[in-house]
Amino acid sequence: MKPVVDIISLGGTIAMKGKNATSGVVPTLTADDLVEAVPQLNEIAVIRTHSHCNVPSAHLTFEDIVTVAAEIRRLAADGSAGVVITQGTDTIEETAYALDLLLELDIPVVVTGAMRNPTRPGADGPANLLSAVLVACHLNARSLGSLVVFNDEVHAARFVRKTHTSNPSTFSSGPAGPIGWLAEDRVRIVLKPDRLPAIEPVNFDKAIKVAIIKLGIGDDGTLIDAAVATGFRGLVIEGLGGGHTSVSAANALERACAKLPVILASRTGAGETLTCTYGFPGSEIDLLSKGLIAAGRLDGCSARVLLTLLLYSENSSIEQLHNEFLVRGTH
Ligand code: ASP
Repeated sequence: MKPVVDIISLGGTIAMKGKNATSGVVPTLTADDLVEAVPQLNEIAVIRTHSHCNVPSAHLTFEDIVTVAAEIRRLAADGSAGVVITQGTDTIEETAYALDLLLELDIPVVVTGAMRNPTRPGADGPANLLSAVLVACHLNARSLGSLVVFNDEVHAARFVRKTHTSNPSTFSSGPAGPIGWLAEDRVRIVLKPDRLPAIEPVNFDKAIKVAIIKLGIGDDGTLIDAAVATGFRGLVIEGLGGGHTSVSAANALERACAKLPVILASRTGAGETLTCTYGFPGSEIDLLSKGLIAAGRLDGCSARVLLTLLLYSENSSIEQLHNEFLVRGTH
């Protein structure tokens, strides 16, 4: 008997077409259209399609993600062997990581998309969709958390990042590397990330917003004060190097920490935030002593996703946030 695979489409380049040669492409195709373009899918699985929305991924919201997570739980209970989400690549790393944090299912949850829209020579959407469905119904892909399948590679959501504006090999898992690959429609899973408990969003509230501020040379902390004054509930700082700021920004962060949780990530895009190397004002030792929470290996965008979901949950005291970032920032 063929497995049942559910495809939930959210839009993105994989679903985009233009009205004419100069208008630019916009989300147009539904989940049914995407499936129709890849007849092999029906040989592999019984496909059920769902169109949650049809937007560029820059328009997706945390509400969309929480709703899609609930839908995936419902489909799992309704006999799904695996779920594929198609969406824009611009925010795949955030959606996939959020689903990884929210779900604790055994079935594969696979996010994919395309870098070249269907009107371009070499469009990669159909190949990515086929690979995603192959992974979604593969037994070895179960219990791995959310995955991103793209360009014949299988990535764990917690590590993957978009690293290039246009190249189909844009997705990379930094120091961890992909956990598997596809070859001639064979799925290979060679690494198994350990699972962490899911986050239960009990208090989904659009007013809970987390700001992210990337610091540069000469930053005087004005934006940090503004973020606190304008009602953000949390703040993520992408500091310089191992997690450093100017003296003025460090003072603004000390003021911010008295009002809301502040996470210290690095703008470098690789490595962990340091904890005990530098001792100057605005160093990681100074900032952590002022109450900032180290993001560990999480980059700013992932830290913002994690903090937002934790603020929706019951695990949102400062002590719990420290613990959560300590664990999730090192796995
Ligand atoms: N460039 C994007 C994509 O690859 C557009 C989006 O994220 O919706 O799908």
